[in-house]
Amino acid sequence: MSEIIPGESDLTDYQQTIEDSSESISLWQASLFEGESIASYLYRLRLQNAVSAPSSLSQALELGVVLNRWEKFRFNPFPTETELQILSQFCGESIDKLAEAFPPESERKKFMARTIRLCAACCVQACYHRLKWQFDSVSGCADHKLRLLSKCPGCEKKFAIASSLWTHKSCECGMRLTKMIKHQQRY
Ligand SMILES: [Zn+2]
Ligand SMILES: [Zn+2]
Repeated sequence: MSEIIPGESDLTDYQQTIEDSSESISLWQASLFEGESIASYLYRLRLQNAVSAPSSLSQALELGVVLNRWEKFRFNPFPTETELQILSQFCGESIDKLAEAFPPESERKKFMARTIRLCAACCVQACYHRLKWQFDSVSGCADHKLRLLSKCPGCEKKFAIASSLWTHKSCECGMRLTKMIKHQQRY
């Protein structure tokens, strides 16, 4: 956990960097995609900044282990305005938009944190994890009229947020998202 990864020490200087050069802001900042989950967003933010451990980013922002928890869909206690503000200053996304990447109150109690679900057809169109797929009240994709997958039909392994699936558009076993669609039952 405490290993030093090249590039990560730069994180502590990020505020200075932002003040020094408006050009460097783009390195740290990323926009949320439509309906994207906070875990997906934080993972992309780490990839973009070459930060391999969630704890490094969290600590650099003086947020303790808060970002680790969010990236694992652990929201108890729920994010505070101050925490969202700190993340907002770093990533450039508004507090309101960031708040939308967390489950609404009605979905929090039964929010599916451990099983990552997805609609492969949605992923083929735009490859990122949507928040609503983790809602207990949602069992299918209304856009494609297909049931969600909770594991890869090829190797039966559970999906993960921190995974090459989102960049490679295929599971580590080789099954492509385009093929997974055929395993989604009608909804
Ligand atoms: Zn879909
Ligand atoms: Zn697989």
